[in-house]
Amino acid sequence: MGIWQKEITTLLLLLLATAIVGGMTGLFLPLLILLMLAVIVRQVVLISRFEKWISTGGRNKYPKATGVWENIYYHVYRLKKEEKRRKKKLGKMIDQFRQSTEALPDAAVVLGMHDEIEWANKAAREVLGLQQSDKGQRIPNLIRFPEFIRYLKSGNYNVAVTLPSPVDNRIILEVRIVPYGAGLRLLLAQDVTQLKKMERMRKDFVANVSHELRTPLTVLKGYLETLQDLDDGHSPLLTSSFQQMQGQTERMQHLVDDLLLLTRLETQQKKPLCVNVPALLSQICKEGDTLENASRRINLTLETAAHIIGEEQELRSAFTNLLGNALKYSPADSEVKVRWYQDNQSIVLAIEDQGEGIAKLDIPRVTERFYRVETKRAKKVNGTGLGLAIVKHVLMRHDAQLNITSELGKGSCFSCRFPAGRICN
Ligand code: ADP
Repeated sequence: MGIWQKEITTLLLLLLATAIVGGMTGLFLPLLILLMLAVIVRQVVLISRFEKWISTGGRNKYPKATGVWENIYYHVYRLKKEEKRRKKKLGKMIDQFRQSTEALPDAAVVLGMHDEIEWANKAAREVLGLQQSDKGQRIPNLIRFPEFIRYLKSGNYNVAVTLPSPVDNRIILEVRIVPYGAGLRLLLAQDVTQLKKMERMRKDFVANVSHELRTPLTVLKGYLETLQDLDDGHSPLLTSSFQQMQGQTERMQHLVDDLLLLTRLETQQKKPLCVNVPALLSQICKEGDTLENASRRINLTLETAAHIIGEEQELRSAFTNLLGNALKYSPADSEVKVRWYQDNQSIVLAIEDQGEGIAKLDIPRVTERFYRVETKRAKKVNGTGLGLAIVKHVLMRHDAQLNITSELGKGSCFSCRFPAGRICN
């Protein structure tokens, strides 16, 4: 029998007994009132006991009760026990999480809505100089580097910012903010001192080697030219050897020049001025058109007269590389379209050819240093594999993007998208 049926049956039996005794004694009404009072008193006593138990948190074993009340106590007790178990598990998880983040080699700081520090790990205290007592303080008051404050305020956290450590300026930190939850942000700082040192060494090494190779190359080239002048053509082997040697020294000179240009792009300060791009393009296209096999292949359309803020020499290198590639990697009689135009948010240079195109898998890789697509034709076409790496660097320095669309056998379109904010005329 269910608990409720048992309760109701007991009540009905008591009523029946009251009716029988009341009928025999003629005191039905007083007896009924007495019964009701007894029932109410019992419920009040049980409720007050329950209230007393629950008000102490329901921690101890529940008091003795009968009927429905025993069930109520049991259910509440069970729920409480379950909650306690879950809390314990959660507490353990939080402890483990705290311990692991505390042990992280990278600094981690949780920031609130108003840039206040909510929590920081050991590495953050060491490398960012934060203290336990800084909890609740606004981080821009503690890390006062202008580039950090600008980054924090910008809300654009796609890239990281590089700063010296506030504790020791020999330590270089890469700081990144990751937004999460409702208005919370996680600040991560990684020590990149060694990495930067190696990068510096790599740049210095490439710069020094390229620079040092220049003189012997010039001497070699000079002697080769003299020897070629002296060659009387009696030995075909000698003549073809001189030609090969000249071709290879020229190739090496291009490599050295491109490497030096890349190094300059990586290390030199920018000196931007207002560049007359239409005039620059006209000049580059004229030069391109006078190249061997290139006459009247270039179709230049200047849809806007916009000038942009930038470095003329750098832009010249990038545009020349793109145009050179379009001419190199397409048939000698095909047209190359060059367009300078403006759309909604950008100003664009698009160079389109009807050449061999680039396979989808190669497109993301062509801007890597020394990457050349392996085709039968590419082997014949001269190149260093550095041209598009130069283009990418120049565009990066101009806040511009390089978009490549290409279809094998149909042609390619390389477009440089400059932000409209760079227009200066
Ligand atoms: P390279 O000196 O070899 O031309 P780049 O960095 O300029 O070096 O180009 C890298 C590679 O990308 C080239 O070797 C070529 O395979 C491919 N490429 C570049 N431009 C084009 C183009 N317009 N059409 C087809 N392939 C191209």
